[in-house]
Amino acid sequence: MWIVFIGPPGAGKGTQCSRLADSLGVPHLSTGDMLRDTERDSPLGKVVASYIDVGRLAPDYLVMPIVTNRLAESDCQAGCLFDGFPRTVHQAELLSEFLMQRQRRIDAVLHLQVDPEVLLGRLLKRAVLQNRKDDNEETISARLEVYRTQTAPVLQYYRGQGNVLEIDGDQSADLVFHDILTGLESRK
Ligand code: AMP
Repeated sequence: MWIVFIGPPGAGKGTQCSRLADSLGVPHLSTGDMLRDTERDSPLGKVVASYIDVGRLAPDYLVMPIVTNRLAESDCQAGCLFDGFPRTVHQAELLSEFLMQRQRRIDAVLHLQVDPEVLLGRLLKRAVLQNRKDDNEETISARLEVYRTQTAPVLQYYRGQGNVLEIDGDQSADLVFHDILTGLESRK
């Protein structure tokens, strides 16, 4: 299974993705986590942090090798769940190309929809729990704007391929997960 999760920051992508990864037995690939894992004091880490800390997207020359190197690992050969990637139409095109060269394709795109009013509260709560530097009010609004202008068009790209499943992310985590499983089942 090759599945993409798309939703604004705070929509619950990380939570749902890791539940689905456990359930399907395929890896959870979070570009945000992989970028945050870059040593903050290294030259590369400093460049990465300069984007993350202000809520801007890291450039493709940093993101794409991280993704393609991870996809080359043995546990990713039967599929993987993408969390936070692709975040632009260009990244979606690069991913399609990468998969096509290996006779693979995205099976489903799960769009987690959440009321924008709910997002801010969730993100501020996460800031306290996870001590994320980019979960402050100013950076959150920059990230929501980046989502609206750069990531939401990715949905149009995948809608054109007919594989987007709309999921109501305003429900409890259990109900969201139930809807994800039901949606995926209906596509078999
Ligand atoms: P996330 O944990 O997915 O919310 O990502 C946190 C931050 O990492 C984002 O605000 C971006 O700065 C960066 N990031 C994560 N994924 C990507 C991506 N696919 N392309 C560019 N930047 C990314």
